[in-house]
Amino acid sequence: MTRDGETGRHGLPLVLVVEDEEALVQLLRYNLEKAGFAVCEARDGDEALVLATERKPDLVLLDWMLPGTSGIEVCRQLRRLADQRTVPIVMLTARGEEADRIRGLDMGVDDYVAKPFSMSELVARVRAVLRRARPQLVAELLQHGGLVMDLATHRVSRDGRDVHLGPTEYRLLRHLMQNPGRIYSREQLLDAVWGHDVTVELRTVDVHVRRLRKAINGPGERDLVRTVRSAGYGLDERS
Ligand code: CA
Repeated sequence: MTRDGETGRHGLPLVLVVEDEEALVQLLRYNLEKAGFAVCEARDGDEALVLATERKPDLVLLDWMLPGTSGIEVCRQLRRLADQRTVPIVMLTARGEEADRIRGLDMGVDDYVAKPFSMSELVARVRAVLRRARPQLVAELLQHGGLVMDLATHRVSRDGRDVHLGPTEYRLLRHLMQNPGRIYSREQLLDAVWGHDVTVELRTVDVHVRRLRKAINGPGERDLVRTVRSAGYGLDERS
């Protein structure tokens, strides 16, 4: 079962929190969102595996002690899913024993945070793991083909010229620049940029891609957005 009421991603890195303690989940959600992440939640291992497949999180925060399937078993199964094989996993554990840590490392856990932990420590560890595994997602400056996006000031330029974007075009471009070389279907862009449960028509994506092109491509300049017929959109890979 997936859980409704998730905040939309809006191009933010998505963390899947797998934990059965409601109070801790709320605390994690609050602090991760405050730190600029989008969050989705699972209360047990089965729900986690379903959500991981559906939402393709950028990082999984996984509790060791879960009802039913244990955290370490969830980890093992995640590593078997083709599109989750490389997703960074941070394990929450009350068990600091050496044997458990080694078992976890064998399963491809990227880092451990031992309970009890401070929220600032946890956010710092999540950020550090993401920086290692997916540097584009936590970079302050994104660059591609003469385009520069400053994530702190929201300024965008192309070859030194200021580019003015509406909020949707900004999020769309940020998502594409965070994943250069990838082609996204219109459904995937809707999910990542507009949010999971927003009802927007697919052709809305086309409208905003057109606006984005108009804003970033000056007269006579190379089109930096790629359209792949019947597949979707991405950034031009020559850069
Ligand atoms: Ca637990």
